[in-house]
Amino acid sequence: MSKTRFRIGSGYDFHPFVEGRRLFLGGVEIPHARGLEGHSDADALLHAVADALLGGAGLPDIGSYFPNTDPRYKDISSLLLLEKVYRLVRGKGLAVGNVDVTVIAEVPKIRPHVEAMKANLGRVLYVSPDQIGIKATTMEGHGAIGRGEGIAVHAVALLEVVE
Ligand code: MG
Repeated sequence: MSKTRFRIGSGYDFHPFVEGRRLFLGGVEIPHARGLEGHSDADALLHAVADALLGGAGLPDIGSYFPNTDPRYKDISSLLLLEKVYRLVRGKGLAVGNVDVTVIAEVPKIRPHVEAMKANLGRVLYVSPDQIGIKATTMEGHGAIGRGEGIAVHAVALLEVVE
């Protein structure tokens, strides 16, 4: 590991909406007419956070650890995947400083669920919920997300070298 005290990582994910699935975001089930399509529970927020952590640690992306062809990860809770990612990052001598997330979605409303999402991330990443930022914006009706076709998430994570 390098001699720097901090490392930064960024992550991004997008999943399209599909009929007949439950919607999970930040480890919270959100009541909605459609869910996100994907091999796991398709929690785009947790996937973006996982990639930010892995990137900050200089590790490969989430898809290389949990391939969407592996039946073990079919419909799995992404909180379990993030727990494994945390252990990988911790194994590199790193702890989580803070995480900041931007959800880009026309629907549903994210704000009512932010505290529950922060509690989930805090628990899995061994930080206080106030070290987690989650905010949301829309595309003002433009593009695929603006038409309500899916949800995108950006995340950045600051990692501290603790050894
Ligand atoms: Mg994903």
